[in-house]
Amino acid sequence: MKIAFIGLGNMGGGMAANLAKAGHAVNAFDLSDDALAAAKESGCMPFSAACDAVQGVDAIVSMLPNGKIVDAVYQSDVFGHAPEGALLIDCSTIDVGTAKSVGAAATQAGYMMVDAPVSGGIAAANAGTLAFMVGGSQESFARAEAILSDMGKAVIHAGDNGAGQSAKICNNMLLGASMIATCEAFMMAQKLGLDPQNFYDISSVSSGQNWSMTSYCPLPGVGPTSPADNDYQGGFAAALMLKDLRLAMEAANQTGADTPMGAKAAQLYEQFVEAGHAGSDFSAIIKTLE
Ligand code: NAD
Repeated sequence: MKIAFIGLGNMGGGMAANLAKAGHAVNAFDLSDDALAAAKESGCMPFSAACDAVQGVDAIVSMLPNGKIVDAVYQSDVFGHAPEGALLIDCSTIDVGTAKSVGAAATQAGYMMVDAPVSGGIAAANAGTLAFMVGGSQESFARAEAILSDMGKAVIHAGDNGAGQSAKICNNMLLGASMIATCEAFMMAQKLGLDPQNFYDISSVSSGQNWSMTSYCPLPGVGPTSPADNDYQGGFAAALMLKDLRLAMEAANQTGADTPMGAKAAQLYEQFVEAGHAGSDFSAIIKTLE
């Protein structure tokens, strides 16, 4: 298939490389020359304008920083430039409202579009083991699945346009709150005189068990290797967790959902990021509880 890939950053770079590795012809575009050079190294064809990269392709995949940029790129460089009928797949994490409005604008311009945000970080993007949650019609999902499965291990249909983003922010709101709760439990266990490994052995097979504990333990030396074992470098940056929690709070306000734990998690990550820890892995928030 001929695919244009827009946004070749930490995530998009590895994803575009995996599409090329799977045998697709990949036209690559990013504002950064370094990102374009890396994409060329990994077998993609670099372009200096998005509207040129999308000419004659079967599908377009984007992995961009936020909703405003996604809207601008699709409105000015994709609609009217990509062939009619091309499948549009936005994998960025953006607000539900923009995902819906860009999806509707795509339909009006003669395209099928899905929002397909991901779970999994840079390592999963490079390894091709991302999980995609997809919003769009059944038909567009079936077309997208064939492409997304070359970049991930799971592709799940969540509903109509915007449903992928809805699933993503609900999942990450749960993740943010459960990470903080896991940190609190480990710190209190130590204050009560428990050995952290012993508490892990108990809680990881008891009802407090959760992903933040057993797959991503915030304490170094406990559980499987995690960013905590690498001084909280790599992994999922606190700034990105805050971004997702803000999107979740925006959605909660718009829908009238009551999310006190999500709101508290957003507030704590806001303080953590403002204290200069934007680039640390999000599990480093445990340090604020010491
Ligand atoms: P990044 O900043 O590394 O990459 C974004 C890329 O988009 C950059 O290379 C930038 O130059 C490019 N870009 C910006 N504006 C552009 C434009 N108008 N046209 C073309 N290219 C443009 O960010 P990332 O970490 O790769 O994240 C991308 C998306 O994936 C975000 O929405 C993020 O929330 C989401 N995400 C990231 C992670 C992660 O662990 N990094 C995990 C899950 C989801």
